[in-house]
This record gives sequence, C-alpha cells and structure tokens, in this order.
Amino acid sequence: MHVRAGSPVSTTTPLVDRFGRQVNYVRISVTDRCDFRCVYCMSERMHFLPRARVLTLEELAELGRAFVELGIRKIRITGGEPLVRSNVSWLFQELGRLRAHGLAELVLTTNGSQLERWAVTLKEAGVARLNISLDSLKPERFRRITRIGELEKVLRGIQVAQAAGFERLKLNAVILKHRNHDEVIDLARFALDQGLDISFIEEMPLGVLSDHDRAESYYSSDAIRADLEKVFSLTPTTESTGGPSRYYRVSGSGSRIGFISPHSHHFCGDCNRVRVSAEGRLLLCLGQEHSVDLRHVLRAHPSDRERLKQAIIAAMAIKPHGHEFQLGGQPVILRHMSHTGG
Ligand code: SAM
Ligand code: SF4
Repeated sequence: MHVRAGSPVSTTTPLVDRFGRQVNYVRISVTDRCDFRCVYCMSERMHFLPRARVLTLEELAELGRAFVELGIRKIRITGGEPLVRSNVSWLFQELGRLRAHGLAELVLTTNGSQLERWAVTLKEAGVARLNISLDSLKPERFRRITRIGELEKVLRGIQVAQAAGFERLKLNAVILKHRNHDEVIDLARFALDQGLDISFIEEMPLGVLSDHDRAESYYSSDAIRADLEKVFSLTPTTESTGGPSRYYRVSGSGSRIGFISPHSHHFCGDCNRVRVSAEGRLLLCLGQEHSVDLRHVLRAHPSDRERLKQAIIAAMAIKPHGHEFQLGGQPVILRHMSHTGG
C-alpha cells in the first residue's frame, strides 16, 4: 500500500502506531549498491537504481534531523554497503552532531570490506557500535557465499575496528543449511575469542533468488542453538540492543550470542522501528509493502522540515502488525534486502 504523504494526525506522542507501539529507531539505507553479491541478498546480476532516484547525502542528513526531532533515539545506517557510497563520511559527521539533540545512538551495519580504511573516521564521527556481517571463516566458502568478497580484507577490517575502540562490535551471520550451518561453533568461538557479540540470522524471503531454494536451505535458530549447546553453556538474558535479537550469555565470556528468528520466533509484537530505503521510501515493516514516498516530500518541498515530519507522523497509521514470511513458494516481498536496508 502506498499513501501520498502529508495529512497530519492528532496524537501527542508523534511516532506511535495503531497498536500502541512507539517507534524510536530508524534504519536508513544510504545506497542499494554493494561490493559483494551475497547469495541470500542479491541475485548475481543486479540492476541498481539510477543515481537520481537515490537520496542525496544532504537529503539523508535532513531526514535524520527530522527523525530526531520526532523523538527517534537510534539511527542505524545500512544498505547495500554503506561504506561504498562516496563521501558517506560527511553524512556520518552530520548525523553524529544529532547526538547533541536527542539522538542516543548512531550505529552502522557493514560487510566490513571497507572498515580498514574507514573505522577510525566512523568512530570520530560518533558511531557507537558496528554490526559486521561474517558468514564464514573459510576463505573459499566466504567467496562462494558473497560471490566476490575477500575474507582476509574483512578480518583486517574487524581488527582495525577493534583497535578504534567502538563500544561494542557484533558479528551477524546468516546461516544456510549445507552452506555454512556446520560452522556455527567456529563462528561463535571466533566471536568469543575476539571479545565480540554474534547474532545468527535465519534467512528471510526478500526478493526472488535463483541461487538456492529458501525452504531447503532453512536452518532454524533452535537448531543452531542446539549445535552451540554441545560446546557452550548458554543462559538466556533479557538484554537487548533495541533490535530483534534474543540474547544468551555464554558462561566464562563477556560476549553475547543472539538469534534473529523471523520464521521460528516472531519478533513483531514489540517492533519499535521503521526503515527508509535508498530511494527515500519509508517502509513501515520489513516484511510488508506498506510505505510512504518521503523523497517526493523532500524534493517537492525542500527545506520544509515540518512537512517532512508530518508525513512521517501520518505514516504511523499504516504500520502493519507484522510480517507474513513463509518458507515455501514465491516470496511475498519482491524487493531484495539490499533495497530494503537490512
Ligand atoms: N552490506 C551490509 C552488510 O552486509 O552487513 C549492510 C546491508 S545487509 C542487507 C544487512 C544485513 O542483512 C546483513 O547482516 C545481511 O547478512 C542481512 N541479510 C541480507 N539478506 C538477508 C536475507 N534474505 N535474510 C536474512 N538476512 C539477510
Ligand atoms: Fe551486500 Fe550486505 Fe547484501 Fe551482502 S548482505 S550483498 S554485503 S548488502
């Protein structure tokens, strides 16, 4: 469902949806482009957006300001791969300034390929935490999953990020049966040895893929946890980083192991977030099409922040209750994760 933005709604706390959920977290995709082609995220030959359809860095900064004025406490920058966008450091600096105006956390999700070069700049701009995707510790397998990625480069990026002194680094691993499900213990051990958190993610059916059958490659969070419990002693915790991960503490370690389980454990009930695609579409749910065209508002009424804020407030009325991901058949959502902003 697409609604033309603009009509104000009367509510005292502006970003509250029909189900009483307060939205205080936005994930902003700054590009649909990427230097990897992960098999679960992209098809081999991707058609990327023409540049004119992607929000400019100035428009992205303006969006960030509007969201923070509306009470958003956490901004996650994502993509595509955010760090391949030229001059993106300017955007991080602009958004970092919002910490003086109510933004509690500026964070980033990255594939790590450019971290060696950018980690220190990001830290200086005020990025508090990083999520770094890492699906395998075996170079050839890493290459097969990402199609073009170089493991060594990512590992060097992780090292530089550790030295840069972020509050916390977390690894994200999408686990696919017969691709990397046999590596969950090694990945967890790597995270623990390095003092990092790690989240294991069930693949979500976003976009049509030719690489594999998603139902066949499904490997549940429960199966991963059972594998891990053969080696580690896991204790559930109520700790949260504001996202959908359910965390466990590992005895004898400061690290946490998390599970993001869109199939086996719905995480919609306490959803506190919205997304903005690289095209400036405000997506009210990862697993539904409900959206509002904020690029139209930004371009039709440049410098009218109040109008932009009203459009965001009005969008809360169409935030759906939850996703309807299914394992079999065609995906309901045809946009790839790289468009959505993971
Ligand atoms: N390029 C960055 C990266 O890979 O971290 C940021 C964007 S990526 C779309 C964000 C996260 O979404 C990554 O952790 C990636 O593994 C995950 N992801 C991508 N496609 C997915 C899918 N179909 N199901 C579950 N997670 C997915
Ligand atoms: Fe690129 Fe991230 Fe998608 Fe992999 S998951 S193709 S790194 S956007």
